Formats: sequence, C-alpha cells, structure tokens
Amino acid sequence: MRNYNPTQRILVTGGAGFLGSHLIDRLLARGDDVVCADNLFTGTKRNVEHLLGHPRFEFIRHDVTFPLYLEVDQIYNLACPASPIHYQHDPVQTTKTSVHGAINMLGLAKRLRAKIFQASTSEVYGDPTVHPQTEAYWGNVNPIGIRSCYDEGKRCAETLFFDYYRQHKLDIRVARIFNTYGPRMHPNDGRVVSNFIMQALQGQDITLYGSGQQTRSFCYVDDLIEGFIRFMDLPRGADGAPGFPGPINLGNPVEFTIRQLAELVIALTGSSSKMVFMPLPADDPLQRQPDISRARAYLNDWQPQVQLQQGLVKTIAYFDQLLSSS
Ligand code: NAD
Ligand code: UDP
Repeated sequence: MRNYNPTQRILVTGGAGFLGSHLIDRLLARGDDVVCADNLFTGTKRNVEHLLGHPRFEFIRHDVTFPLYLEVDQIYNLACPASPIHYQHDPVQTTKTSVHGAINMLGLAKRLRAKIFQASTSEVYGDPTVHPQTEAYWGNVNPIGIRSCYDEGKRCAETLFFDYYRQHKLDIRVARIFNTYGPRMHPNDGRVVSNFIMQALQGQDITLYGSGQQTRSFCYVDDLIEGFIRFMDLPRGADGAPGFPGPINLGNPVEFTIRQLAELVIALTGSSSKMVFMPLPADDPLQRQPDISRARAYLNDWQPQVQLQQGLVKTIAYFDQLLSSS
C-alpha cells in the first residue's frame, strides 16, 4: 500500500465479466473511482448490479474495438471473451477485440500517461513443450487453428504493449493469467469448472474431453485479483520511467488432471452424475502449470492461498443459488 494513491480513477474494460467484476469490487472497496466499459458480449449487468448507484462507480456500454475518450489514472484492459466456445463463436471479432482493443486502450493510456494492465493468458504458450511454463518460454502456438483467434490475438496484444513500452515509455503491466474460477463465471460458457459444476448440480453426465488426463492448474478468483492489484501498484522507475512491465504468470501452480477435477466436483456436490468421455477439441493443450517464481519475487511473495477444494465449495454454492433462483 506504500505506493498507493487513494484517489485514483480507474478504467476496467470487460468489467461486467467474471474477473472484471471481482476486480471492480476490490478497487471500490479501497476507495477508487471506477469506470467499467463493457459491450456485454459475455459479461452481464447482473455481475455489477450491486454497484449500480454506487457514487464511485460508472458503467458504460462500449466496444473496445472503437476508441474511447475519458480521463483516468489507470487502465485494466480485460475486455475479451475468455472461454473457447465464446471466443470461437465470432473468431474475427475475437482477434479485433484483442488487437484493436489493445491499440485503442494503449492510445488512451499514451494520451493520459496512465499505467495500463493487460489481461494476457497462458494460451500464449499454446500446447507447451516446456513444463511448467516460465515467462521466458516463447510458446508452441498453432497460428491457423480454431484457438488461434484468441491465442494469436493475445500474443499480438502483448507485442503492442511492449512496443508502446519501448517506443513511448508507457508504464505497462502484462499478466499471463492461468485458468481461474469462482463465483460469477458464466454458467454456460463451456469452461471446465462451470461445466462440471452445472452438470453435477443438475444430475447430468460430466463431459470429459479426451481421456481426462490433460492437466490444468486452477486459481481461485480472489487470489488472482490480489495478484493483479499488487502488480499494478508496483511503482514507476526513477524519474517517472516505466516500472516493471512483466510479463508475469499469475495462477495456481498446483496441477490437476481434468479427471481429478471431475471426481472432486462429484464428491463435493454429492451428485449421482456419471463421467462420459467425448472427443478432445483441436489444439487442446495437454498440460498446463505456471511457474510463479517471478510473481513471488516481484509481488511481495504473492502466491495463491485458496486450495481447489475450498474454492470449489464457494463456486458450487454460487451456481446452486443461481439454479434455484432461475
Ligand atoms: P468474461 O467473458 O467473463 O469477461 C470478459 C468481458 O469482456 C465480458 O464482460 C465481455 O462482455 C467483455 N467484452 C468482450 N468483448 C468486448 C469488447 N469488444 N468490448 C468491450 N467489452 C468486451 O471472461 P473473464 O474470465 O472475466 O476474462 C477476463 C479477461 O481475462 C479476458 O481478457 C481473458 O482473456 C483473460 N483471461 C481469463 C482467464 C480465466 O481463467 N478466467 C485466463 C486467462 C486470461
Ligand atoms: N474440458 C472437459 N470437459 C468440459 C469442458 C472442458 O474435459 O466439459 C477440458 C478441456 O478439453 C480442457 C480443459 O477441460 O482440456 C480446460 O478447458 P477450459 O475450456 O476450461 O479451458 P482451457 O482449455 O482454455 O484451459
């Protein structure tokens, strides 16, 4: 908190989404003024409805592929569909959102000399041949596959961020986010945690793609948001020079197979659902685990605190309530 100025005006793009809405809660709680810009493609007003009427909160329906003119001190650029079925729904728009969205938000940051955070992704590593993934690894990405609109869009956004950093001395923060879950995930977004929980709660078959032996490392949303804020609040360099730009991996390094996740969800929900096996989608990474040494070193020993079981219990309660209120 030593470097934190309590009167900041902060823009969060994609703020009505899963991660964005949790970030906004944290920023408002510490006294910031927050503008949420979202086109509601995958986000929903329900995620921020508890904030409508808050004196320091403002919602703007806006598509980041178009320029935005306002005055802020910091920008968190989260706008982009994140789940495979959503980003593959209109892949051209996904690339535009990542690339044009980055150009527009970087342009805004440059005019304002504002610090800007980019929600990048572990997908920049593709189907990794290095395990666990460190930030030094350049990745193994198919440039022409069905995941490419997202993976390459996010890679190009990183390029733009680092060019603005070098060319315009912009203060950037690039975080590579690994699979994160928690309340306010979209119930039908097809991501594995929401799918398994919704299936288990409704007594439907649990759909494992492939053998279920592929791995992911799941981070609870509160741990991730703590990492975002610590990263953004790193100070600028001497004489106002940019601070540490990243990239930094943010995620939970504890790795599970997808089958283990299914078993845990079944146990925690007490469901009678059965596991069924379906084809593995194209280019689905076989393993994924972040090396978080850099985050530990730069972010005051940041590391996830919430174990998968604890986080799942909270997420199950959220979806349970959603189902009973619908
Ligand atoms: P989400 O789909 O819940 O949120 C994304 C938000 O962006 C939504 O509210 C959506 O309406 C908005 N949006 C999409 N296109 C837009 C556009 N053109 N203009 C304005 N708003 C737009 O997803 P999330 O999980 O909250 O992800 C947030 C960010 O974090 C994304 O950039 C995603 O790529 C990144 N990320 C998330 C994860 C994860 O596990 N949740 C992992 C890696 C990276
Ligand atoms: N997955 C699965 N069943 C589902 C949804 C996903 O087995 O109902 C698998 C998917 O093939 C992938 C992993 O779970 O191997 C994580 O998928 P998700 O879409 O959540 O994220 P990503 O692939 O982007 O990490």
